[in-house]
Amino acid sequence: MDLRDTPELAQFRRELRQWLVENVPQEPEPQDMVERFAFARAWQSKLYAGGWCGLSWPTEYGGRGFGPLEEAVASEEMARAGAPATFPSTHLGRALLEYGNEDQRRRYLPGLLNAGTIWCQGFSEPGAGSDLASLSTRATRDGDSFVLSGEKTWTSFGRFAEYSMVLARSDPTAPKHRGISAFIVPLDSPGISVQPIRIANGDEEFVQLFLDDVVVPAENLLGEMGQGWPLALSTVSYERGAVDLGYQVKFERYFTELVEQCKQSAALIDGTTDDAMGAVAVQLEVLRMHCLRRLSDRARTGSPGPASSGDKLFITWVEQDLMDVATRLVAPPGDEAHRLWFDRYLYGRAGSIYGGSSQIQRSILAERVLGLRFRP
Ligand SMILES: Cc1cc2nc3c(=O)[nH]c(=O)nc-3n(C[C@H](O)[C@H](O)[C@H](O)COP(=O)(O)OP(=O)(O)OC[C@H]3O[C@@H](n4cnc5c(N)ncnc54)[C@H](O)[C@@H]3O)c2cc1C
Repeated sequence: MDLRDTPELAQFRRELRQWLVENVPQEPEPQDMVERFAFARAWQSKLYAGGWCGLSWPTEYGGRGFGPLEEAVASEEMARAGAPATFPSTHLGRALLEYGNEDQRRRYLPGLLNAGTIWCQGFSEPGAGSDLASLSTRATRDGDSFVLSGEKTWTSFGRFAEYSMVLARSDPTAPKHRGISAFIVPLDSPGISVQPIRIANGDEEFVQLFLDDVVVPAENLLGEMGQGWPLALSTVSYERGAVDLGYQVKFERYFTELVEQCKQSAALIDGTTDDAMGAVAVQLEVLRMHCLRRLSDRARTGSPGPASSGDKLFITWVEQDLMDVATRLVAPPGDEAHRLWFDRYLYGRAGSIYGGSSQIQRSILAERVLGLRFRP
């Protein structure tokens, strides 16, 4: 495999590098959740206006029409420049691209790519997380509309979102995986209420989303009736993938920060530090190579598929090891720098749960990638 840039890619890299020098915000990412959200949104819209966001998305829906190589170069350069992460909702855009009709794609995708409209994922319910197909939110056809009732939970960014992609049971008589459909639900619809959920680091990033006879027009059905399950599998495969959500960029930026802190504080550097930092550096390098390989797989197969469960496990390990090392090194507890790393550490623990828990990812790898079946 030749990892050197072609002349065209080298030119693309130079242009992006120059743009980043001129545009990466110099101020640190805000700590406050609401300000952090506004910061991420502003950065994504600036990236998009500069032509550096939605690189591998079709031009007719607001993308640049490039391929995976440009995405890989962009990830590398953004990490190198210490650029903030973009808003983590492109996996929902992939579902719109794959299952939406022409009108839905043209209407919703540009806003999702430039963070002009914020989307959230209304999949999990209090009684349906790992076993998502047991969900009980109902969708009943009523003339030209559907009426949705039920409760969603752990809905990230539900406080800020304008739309939710909601899975609901549209045919209670069908086998559970077949009776589910997906809907585009505007969150200002009558009958919607949200209840913030506070997480361990104090942020109210999630909400519980209550739908009480919410009427959505029939044109907001996403895909065909009963297609909610394959849509959900495809969406989470992008959510679990190593390349879509910019984790590599984020972790490399954090690691660079940690290296600088270690350099500035001689007290942090000893034999144990060297060892721990070296181990994380290797993990990040392997993650970078892994992302390149997955992007090249994607170019062949078109979608991440069940192997993205391996990506998710890998991302989780790297994040948790990095935050573990950082909280041990950047002392003393109570210090402002330590608090920042500890917040990130706490958030890193969620990696074993969101997008499907680590146990579920391992089962998917065993069953759907390795072809093993558990026989009780
Ligand atoms: C940071 C974060 C963001 C999230 N964002 C969203 C979002 O935006 N939208 C959304 O819809 N959901 C979201 N979720 C919810 C997430 O998808 C669920 O929490 C996850 O699927 C697990 O479901 P659960 O919490 O109901 O746990 P459960 O399914 O009750 O699982 C509890 C424990 O049992 C284990 N377990 C369950 N079944 C099995 C099995 N068959 N084999 C082995 N072990 C099993 C699990 O691994 C877990 O350890 C988010 C979660 C987090 C942490």
